[in-house]
Amino acid sequence: MEKQGKINNTKQSVYIHIPFCEHICEYCDFNKVFLEGQPVDEYIDLLLREIDLTVKKIPNTGIKTIYIGGGTPTSLNVKQMEHLLKGVNSLLSLAERSEFTIEVNPGDLTQEKLLLMQEFGVNRLSLGVQTLKDDLLRKIGRHHTVQDIFQTLDMLKREDFKNVSIDLIYALPDQTRQDWEKTLDLALSFDLPHYSLYSLILENHTMFMNRVRCGQLILPSEDRQADLFEVALERMEQYDLEHYEISNFAKDGFQSQHNLVYWNNENYFGFGAGASGYVGDVRYKNHGPIQHYLNSLRNFELPVVTRKSLSIKNQIEEEMFLGLRKLQGVSKRIFFEKFGVNFSEIYGEIAANLVEKELLFEDDKKVSLSEKGLLLGNFVFEKFLL
Ligand code: SF4
Repeated sequence: MEKQGKINNTKQSVYIHIPFCEHICEYCDFNKVFLEGQPVDEYIDLLLREIDLTVKKIPNTGIKTIYIGGGTPTSLNVKQMEHLLKGVNSLLSLAERSEFTIEVNPGDLTQEKLLLMQEFGVNRLSLGVQTLKDDLLRKIGRHHTVQDIFQTLDMLKREDFKNVSIDLIYALPDQTRQDWEKTLDLALSFDLPHYSLYSLILENHTMFMNRVRCGQLILPSEDRQADLFEVALERMEQYDLEHYEISNFAKDGFQSQHNLVYWNNENYFGFGAGASGYVGDVRYKNHGPIQHYLNSLRNFELPVVTRKSLSIKNQIEEEMFLGLRKLQGVSKRIFFEKFGVNFSEIYGEIAANLVEKELLFEDDKKVSLSEKGLLLGNFVFEKFLL
């Protein structure tokens, strides 16, 4: 990579994007394409070339987290999955006790694919469950069923694969409080070590946005969303799941190490079409359209389309936006170590104001969102813009 900054971490993290999906969900604005007819084999070859071209230029001191997301990584067939995992394993050396996650679409995970993943060191799976009600799954354009979810979880249990997270979405169209409670209760009865809960975000240029604009779909109000979130908080607490990030809950020792890299504002590489990375003080993004991405790599060039060197001011702001997402907040010691200035010199007055409004908690060691602040995160984050 031509002008990339120095790498801050001795151990590195890697995100790998597989942009193919067998069905396109109506609410989705991720970088993805319909699988059929795509040059998937060539994509994997060139994705591995991208990793190779990058790691040749950096000291490979051991990778602490790898996260393969999408799109739908499990839309790859067994041969393609094996090629990808073998390549990743030979190019990146995993550090001891590293975390290697793959996103899984319920119903796509066969025993053969699971065994392959285990063989190549995958030790965490993130399941895109979304909801445990078939009619709601259909309404949001997901093609898996509740039965698929049960079967996938049964298989994981049989194989004694424990480190599993599931994603749930709330504030879906016509979702009642009872629907959400039932989904939560059922999801919690699986006794998994990690749950991610997101409210449905209406993105521009999605089929969902069009249908909401035409009045065909009605989404819950903001008050209703806050109500649903509070229901979730209660349930998670009952099950002793630690609320460690705005949308994430885990049993002790099962927090997502990869996502903590993002929230701790640390460096990571992004590989694949549309992937983003953060290396030294440079945030970069790859070409999104598959052919643009492949074309660069066919010429042995890295597929980076934008690079932005962050000023110290940008880095400080990001430290706050990202760090405050964690319930433990932003450490004043780490803030000083990173930026050579005391937190209070920059944000003393702003923090005091937010503490007065009961949106922030502050002591000698850290600042973090209060319970009220959790519900008004964006309002709080804005105040930290310099
Ligand atoms: S939500 Fe996931 S599975 Fe659905 S289209 Fe988007 S990336 Fe594909």
